[in-house]
Amino acid sequence: MSTVLVFLDHPGASLAKSERELLSLGASLGDVAVALAETAGQAYLDGVGSYGVQEYYRPDSGAVAEVLVAGKAAFLAEAVRTSGASIVLLGNSYEAKEIAARLGIRLEAGVITDVVGLESGLVATKADFAGSYTVNCRVTTDVAILTVKPNSFEAVEAGTPSSPREVPLPVELPSSAARITGRAEKPASGRPELTEARVIVAGGRGVDGNFGPLEELADALGGAVGASRAATDAGWIEHSAQIGQTGKTVSPQLYVSVGISGAIQQKAGMQTSKVIVAINKDADSPVFEIADFGIVGDLFTVLPQATEEIRKRGL
Ligand SMILES: Cc1cc2nc3c(=O)[nH]c(=O)nc-3n(C[C@H](O)[C@H](O)[C@H](O)COP(=O)(O)OP(=O)(O)OC[C@H]3O[C@@H](n4cnc5c(N)ncnc54)[C@H](O)[C@@H]3O)c2cc1C
Repeated sequence: MSTVLVFLDHPGASLAKSERELLSLGASLGDVAVALAETAGQAYLDGVGSYGVQEYYRPDSGAVAEVLVAGKAAFLAEAVRTSGASIVLLGNSYEAKEIAARLGIRLEAGVITDVVGLESGLVATKADFAGSYTVNCRVTTDVAILTVKPNSFEAVEAGTPSSPREVPLPVELPSSAARITGRAEKPASGRPELTEARVIVAGGRGVDGNFGPLEELADALGGAVGASRAATDAGWIEHSAQIGQTGKTVSPQLYVSVGISGAIQQKAGMQTSKVIVAINKDADSPVFEIADFGIVGDLFTVLPQATEEIRKRGL
């Protein structure tokens, strides 16, 4: 049985959906051990334990938290050696991909990023060349490092919560590691995380800089606000809101696409949504090819009406 090391960065109060997906995938591949670079609370650790994890690795000092990714890569390399893991699973954030790359160099191990599928023999599926090609590839080194896109694998229900054992590991920080000199809390929007949200209202170039009506609808539905790359590139909304091939992959129950044409790179990040509603003033827009419901109209007329009706009905 292979040992699978799952790296969980920035633990919250409880396991996030994307973390449950990683643990579920890990459990389907072998015995799971977990590496946590930061301190986690008991509820989080119980969640980790419920996936059959017997032990989790932690740096034996706070030094890793004082530097950028290089410290986490050094810690993870130590965890791979100690656990004897042959598969390492990480999330797919920019930070996770950088850690994976540094880990690959440290261990002389192959890395595959943006994984959306995995078949027997550890053959990974990913999109390449702006979504034009779907590639099947496999790592040929002893250790395989995979960064996995959220919403690509099912998060199966975990078993009974149990407490895994903490294993502290000494970590030698590289002298070149960049030190963190200060931290500032990101202001909370009160809206759910994009990759966790059940409802997403996403806007594109058609919103012309005004996300107000989309925020109103998202708040009426308890949803998150996302965007196409055209909207994030224009600086109308932060880059972390970008959905698509080079942004986040989402799979909500309801995806409302507003003023987005539906380019292949945008579809790559949202086409697995359960129900897609598209609002676009151009009836020939390609977004209508994947929409379950389409509204041809001006978003600035359609959205306020929809929000008002939803509020009236108390949905
Ligand atoms: C390597 C690469 C990676 C990429 N990655 C991504 C990615 O991750 N995510 C992503 O989204 N894109 C990505 N792109 C860009 C992608 O190709 C498209 O350019 C982009 O998605 C277009 O954004 P848009 O649909 O908002 O804009 P447009 O294509 O300009 O569409 C705007 C739409 O708004 C409609 N509209 C205008 N005014 C209104 C109105 N008042 N009411 C209703 N509808 C209106 C128009 O009819 C039009 O259909 C990538 C491109 C490349 C080359």
